[in-house]
Amino acid sequence: MSLGHMFEKRAFLGTRKPREGKKQINSAGEYLRISDYFGENTFDVKTAKGIPKSIKDKIVNLAKGGEKLAREDVELIAKEVTRWAMQKGATHFCHWFQPLTGQTAEKHDSFLTLTDDGVPIDQMGVSQLLQGESDASSLPHGDSRSTFEARGYTSWDFTSPLFLIEGTNGKTLCIPTAFVSFNGDALDVKTPLLRSTLRLNKVATKFLNLTGKTEVQSVKATCGAEQEYFLVDKALYFARPDLVMSGRTLFGSMSAKNQQLEDHYFGIIPARVLAFMQELDVELYRLGIPSKTRHNEVAPGQFEIAPIFEEANLAADHNQVLMAQLRNIASKHDFHVLLHEKPFSYINGSGKHLNWSMVDDHGTNLLDPGDGGMDTARFLAVVSMIVETVYRHSDALRMSVCGAGNDHRLGGNEAPPSIISVYLGKALLAIFEKFISGGDVTSDEKKVLDVGVDHLATLLADDVDRNRTSPFAFTSNRFEFRAVGSDQSIGFPLAILNAAVSEILDESNSLLEEWINRDGMSVDAALRKLTKKWMENAERIVFNGDGYSKEWVEEAKKRGLPNFKTTPDAVQVLIDEKGSKFLINQKIFRPNELKIRYNIHIERYNTIREIEFNTFTSMINHFVIPAAIDYKIKLCQAIKLQSDIGEKSVVEKEILGKLEGALIATCSGSKEILSDLENFKGAHKEKAHYIADKLMPKSNMLAKHCHVLEEIIPCELWALPKYYDLLFLR
Ligand code: ADP
Ligand code: MG
Repeated sequence: MSLGHMFEKRAFLGTRKPREGKKQINSAGEYLRISDYFGENTFDVKTAKGIPKSIKDKIVNLAKGGEKLAREDVELIAKEVTRWAMQKGATHFCHWFQPLTGQTAEKHDSFLTLTDDGVPIDQMGVSQLLQGESDASSLPHGDSRSTFEARGYTSWDFTSPLFLIEGTNGKTLCIPTAFVSFNGDALDVKTPLLRSTLRLNKVATKFLNLTGKTEVQSVKATCGAEQEYFLVDKALYFARPDLVMSGRTLFGSMSAKNQQLEDHYFGIIPARVLAFMQELDVELYRLGIPSKTRHNEVAPGQFEIAPIFEEANLAADHNQVLMAQLRNIASKHDFHVLLHEKPFSYINGSGKHLNWSMVDDHGTNLLDPGDGGMDTARFLAVVSMIVETVYRHSDALRMSVCGAGNDHRLGGNEAPPSIISVYLGKALLAIFEKFISGGDVTSDEKKVLDVGVDHLATLLADDVDRNRTSPFAFTSNRFEFRAVGSDQSIGFPLAILNAAVSEILDESNSLLEEWINRDGMSVDAALRKLTKKWMENAERIVFNGDGYSKEWVEEAKKRGLPNFKTTPDAVQVLIDEKGSKFLINQKIFRPNELKIRYNIHIERYNTIREIEFNTFTSMINHFVIPAAIDYKIKLCQAIKLQSDIGEKSVVEKEILGKLEGALIATCSGSKEILSDLENFKGAHKEKAHYIADKLMPKSNMLAKHCHVLEEIIPCELWALPKYYDLLFLR
């Protein structure tokens, strides 16, 4: 392609063709069904051929906190999985883990070993499957240890399937692992998540046993994460240093048409994008990731993919693999995928709606409204517990989704707001209000609860939050935590949510034991008492209205709900004893692990912002100022020529004045931010607040000056792709 001017780029991009992927057909030329190749690149010990049933059972029990595997078992697994991987063409294996970078990490080892006599053989030993050791000093550790202890250990997570990643010239077997430090501190996302699912399993099972479901032996958290993203053409991406350096445009004036006409959402998917989505889905299916929906999102150039929900730990691993595949396949189609929460000003950013529920080992969803019987009574109690959870721990939930990128969504005027509230819908709220007022939530023989409706499920399904401004919404059979950022790992918010719910379940269990076992109360009366108790206490977190509105900010303040607009504010809860105590009590985090995460958050925030400020300044120096000067020369020449023939140059002078004003403001603004940054002498924490409260507003102002220049300067002098190009060329 031409390296020339934007005009040539535009003409070239218009000729790009959709890429054809490999057709899914068998040797007879017949089309394969998804189920024919679903999971072909995964090895799940629980279901794999060649693994005896006794070992499979042990693995299933392990996920529920059962006893460890014997060494012979692991030996057999290691042999089988190596045989499988090599037969599929893998030459290497790696421990795949999720350090506190938000990304995944992998270090590849080949299957090649030399015997004592120097004979080459291919193998992977038991210890190589089980544990890895790596120098972790270059991964974030939040000052958790001195360098001489900078060893990190990865250990196999039996519960998540192994999978193959395919490079152009070979395949690697990935072993999902947890990552801990020398002294056992979790340095990753997975370890606390696994602790939280085990804890939730214990307390939720006890709750069901106490309330009459004695047959239930385990409960798991389920999660389906709707992933939003933008696609921009790769050539344009590399022409915008801000996208490459920071994942977002640091400035850019809006195209006249953006999302006002609401014509992109669910619109016809452009051919090149569809080709990408189709290839992506095939790769996800082969990796056992149950991709379900794909569609255009609200903003131009924005799309969404959502999977069928799965067990929380698996869903978290799968979302990481999905994000990696998004990047990888997009690149093959000459796109770049932007996972940043706010790549463009003025239009919607991207989030990740984290749909969450709990399901028991008999397949009952604890958030399914039921048909008026005991299931409904339990359902209402569980909803009330979750309302209490969000009320009590809204600051921890807000913290769980903080980050420099997400600040632009949650702290900006965009859905959802940074005030955490719960949407229940009219019908459900009306039922709870009856509970609170002691109204006629009666019981008779057939129905435990007369909540005034015959078909509760249908009614609630009609009552989902359509305006989607609520950060935590009940949507017919699950809760939807919508404040999660598009770029974030869902493992962390899931761990916090599971931990917070576990605390309330645990307290509820104690109360139920007291009321039922000690006082002889009936189960339904006890459940009703519990529901009333939590709803009475926590009702003020419920808000069914428009979360965008100014009135809500005022109202929330009156209700005493916290509103943490920035990461430095939100992250504070990690070192606040009162706010984070439950994470330690529920044994999801050790005190030191919270400190580690706090330090990493602050450091990351500062580093990201510094990269942004530096990139912004260099773009101003390399693109904006030279373009402005070129235009000034042109204007001055025109003015001079016209004055030679006695003309006045009214328009030229007006433009020149505007240009000069914006140019001066741009130059001084960018210099000021960098010198403020350099002269700031406080510690990391103070620096983060300084950046968020003082420098970010300056940076936003600076962007406005650049917009003025972009609007004035002719296209032929403006070398950067504009929003017009980034959002509409595909
Ligand atoms: P919407 O856009 O209306 O929210 P989508 O179909 O895009 O609906 O996404 C819904 C998501 O919720 C899917 O990922 C789905 O698997 C997930 N989901 C549905 N039921 C549950 C559940 N019980 N637990 C967790 N996630 C669920
Ligand atoms: Mg949704």
